[in-house]
Amino acid sequence: MADHVNPFESLQEQIDVAGKHVDVRSDVLERLKHPERILETTLSVELDDGSIELFRAFRSQFNGDRGPYKGGIRYHPGVNRDEVAALSGWMTYKCAVVDIPYGGGKGGIIIDPKQYSESELERLTRSFAAELRPIIGENKDIPAPDVNTGQREMNWIKDTYETLENTTAPGVITGKAIDSGGSAGRVEATGRSVMLSAREVFNWLGGDLADATVAIQGYGNAGSIAARLIDEAGGTVVAVSDSGGAIYNPEGLDAAAVAETKLETGAVTEHNAPEQLSNEELLTLDVDLLIPAALQNAINESLAEEVRADVIVEAANGPLTPGADRVFAAKDTYVVPDILANAGGVTVSYFEWVQNRQRFSWTEERVNDELERVICEAFDGLIDTYDTKDLDSLRTAAYVVAIDRVVDAYTEGGNWP
Ligand code: GLU
Repeated sequence: MADHVNPFESLQEQIDVAGKHVDVRSDVLERLKHPERILETTLSVELDDGSIELFRAFRSQFNGDRGPYKGGIRYHPGVNRDEVAALSGWMTYKCAVVDIPYGGGKGGIIIDPKQYSESELERLTRSFAAELRPIIGENKDIPAPDVNTGQREMNWIKDTYETLENTTAPGVITGKAIDSGGSAGRVEATGRSVMLSAREVFNWLGGDLADATVAIQGYGNAGSIAARLIDEAGGTVVAVSDSGGAIYNPEGLDAAAVAETKLETGAVTEHNAPEQLSNEELLTLDVDLLIPAALQNAINESLAEEVRADVIVEAANGPLTPGADRVFAAKDTYVVPDILANAGGVTVSYFEWVQNRQRFSWTEERVNDELERVICEAFDGLIDTYDTKDLDSLRTAAYVVAIDRVVDAYTEGGNWP
């Protein structure tokens, strides 16, 4: 599945491709291809047996021209410096394309969290929070959940930060549980923007999501919720997968029931379905819509040749290599890029932060309505740029919009110090 494409090089290539269509000096563009700074630290954590284990951790602050750095923290054995740098860059352009007032950041710890107890994970998380304390804050850098982290970890980080700072500052982190200052609709938000992006792209192409067959790779927070919302919108989810394999039912799967099986057993393949498939078979199914919702580099150039879906909506960050992008552009497969399609997560993080600063809670209905407005306006803006500049892909259009906004903020502020 995954190949060895360095995601940081993919990010730089995406900026170079889009940069040709933006009125920007090459030296200014170069600045947009590198993180401003990366914290790299070694956490020493006491395990339950009393021994100490070391963990490598990173926080990349890519660009702060449009506001505080913003982006999640992931726990995964594959985390490395370049991956975190790339993900922080994608956050910069994601926040810009949906026009929320943030820069981009990302963090990660090299760990397989499944191998550790809850108390070990708590000590690890608090240790990272203590390291992050000087560089994060409501107005500086605001972390959030990402792969293998969620409300629990965010609540620990908030508590550690507030205790050490002797203050209350719930907006230092987003994706918290509701009682710790979280927002209604945040858990669903990434999946919701995937569904909204799918709906918008089918409408734009003169089709209807309700008539579409859909395959989804990855059944974590983004994939499972996108599946349920697409199912509710009338689309037919025929195949879903997780790291253990895929299930297929040409008549359609009950997405909510599959999510329940996954919760109970840890594997979608435990769900009763007529057929099991390999991950690669799922990615190459003849469906209308394919949603990669796992990790980066899921589809490389050679696999892209085999993909038969007409439309791809990226729920994961960076699931297509630049080589795959070229293949899809050549065969007119429309790709709604990650920086728009999964931007619901950070958009509702922004709403959470606004509520935290207002010390006032919005209803779930208000959150969902505002999210829909943000995603639909961003989608329309992207299509407008795609058409007027006659671009090769929706990804290039998204980067053109985003780079323009970041460059404007940088130029208006001036290059100082
Ligand atoms: N980790 C999510 C992302 O990649 C959410 C980030 C956030 O809410 O700040 O977009």
